[in-house]
Amino acid sequence: MKEYVLSLDQGTTSSRAIVFNKSGEIVSVGQYPYEQIYPQSGWVEHDPEVIWETERMAAEEAVKKAGVEISAIGITNQRETTIIWDKETGKPIYNAIVWQCRRTAAICDMLSAKGYGETVTEKTGLMIDAYFSGTKIKWILDHVPGSYERAKNGELLFGTVETWLIWKLTGGKAHVTDYSNASRTMLFNIHTLEWDEELCEMLGIPMCMLPKPVGNSELYGVVSEGIPGLESLAGVPVCGSAGDQQAALFGQGCFEIGSAKNTYGTGCFTLMNVGEEPVRSHSGLVTTVAWSIGGKTTYALEGSVFNGGSTIQWLRDGLGIIDSAPEVNPLAESVPDSGGVILVPAFTGLGAPHWDMYARGALLGITRGTTKAHIARAALEGIAYQVTDMMNAMRSDADCEIAVLHVDGGASVSNLMMQIQSDLLRIPVERPKVVETTAFGAAALAGLYAGVWESLDEISAAHESERIFYPERPAADAEKDYNQWKRAVGRACGWIEK
Ligand code: ADP
Repeated sequence: MKEYVLSLDQGTTSSRAIVFNKSGEIVSVGQYPYEQIYPQSGWVEHDPEVIWETERMAAEEAVKKAGVEISAIGITNQRETTIIWDKETGKPIYNAIVWQCRRTAAICDMLSAKGYGETVTEKTGLMIDAYFSGTKIKWILDHVPGSYERAKNGELLFGTVETWLIWKLTGGKAHVTDYSNASRTMLFNIHTLEWDEELCEMLGIPMCMLPKPVGNSELYGVVSEGIPGLESLAGVPVCGSAGDQQAALFGQGCFEIGSAKNTYGTGCFTLMNVGEEPVRSHSGLVTTVAWSIGGKTTYALEGSVFNGGSTIQWLRDGLGIIDSAPEVNPLAESVPDSGGVILVPAFTGLGAPHWDMYARGALLGITRGTTKAHIARAALEGIAYQVTDMMNAMRSDADCEIAVLHVDGGASVSNLMMQIQSDLLRIPVERPKVVETTAFGAAALAGLYAGVWESLDEISAAHESERIFYPERPAADAEKDYNQWKRAVGRACGWIEK
């Protein structure tokens, strides 16, 4: 009987591997952090060989610890990070340019000035931004001598991290990217599910270097013989892949239109399933392929809040009113409300739906009676208010109701914040037992192909709730506070002078 799936979770700061059983439980974990390379201010790189080596070691460790037979391998990865390598030797021609890297901002300004914005949004669901892979590929081809010619001759291959790992695992046999990752390149038409000639021309990218776009749950290849430490995996199918946020949406069991997940990490990442037709946002959210299985494609709206858990870190490191992140909860719970204090955590401006780079943080409503407990509570509320703003934008863009918000990420352990979130959104907030939703999503995609799980229903069954928070406060009270928040955001917007 097929029972175990290996999930490779290649993140921005560490490479991890987790073996899941059919019940969705974690059997074993391997994890290796690795080096961030900062060649200059605003630039971020990784060594692709180190990405592979740490991921290989993590897989070896997880498989060894589990001591079970692996039926399938799924992959999830930091998205947009760009790698170009030599097809023959397998050697990267430059370091991986990481999603956070802003070096191509000027290229983006140039594209916007030339009026490409509408074309890019219409075809890719994205806005022109240095995050996405397209301009990173252009930068490498512009800066590594001879690389453009070599790419044109078919000697070089491009891939995001899942492409690179699948290529390595299959011994160079499979050069593929799944649709969810392809959606983040700014080169991929999310309507036709094909690379877009016009966009490739716009950036001077030879199309022969691009990987073949493939579904999220299908056979990409099998693990090749002779990979050191992974001998026992030779012949195992690599058959599931999705970018980290999409994998989390899948792992949270958000299979229905209007089901959404939010990850409360340093920032917050929200995705909502909008069904089989892409929805165009009018609030600065992006549209992306969530997954495509058996020829049926599901789309999502995506948005992010820049400062989520980082607000709690600021209480600890900036204000010094707590010694560790978990202490925020008893401190905030020690008062019944924030005493009218509102904290707008616009430390680095505000993202969707406000999009104000000139906004800065604001602490409003302070009186002589304000204590650190009120500020701690206002911090948790400020995170939940921002997520509410974004989810309301999603509700209106997609013109649908959100039935339940599934949550994960380090700060989702705060019971108080989850209760506040439910009170604001007026829907249940569900926290799963296994919080490794990203890794589980990749395992589920692979296991669905391999027959470990027969259907989405079986995957849902493997997803168990740890706790569900229901709205408790009267709606009118929550709304009154939310209106106060909106006034506070108005004060924070446009704060620094242009
Ligand atoms: P990332 O993946 O972005 O590094 P994590 O998902 O690991 O983030 O979450 C880390 C965040 O969670 C930190 O910003 C921290 O402030 C917050 N956090 C950690 N523990 C708690 C807790 N017990 N209550 C509230 N927030 C917490």
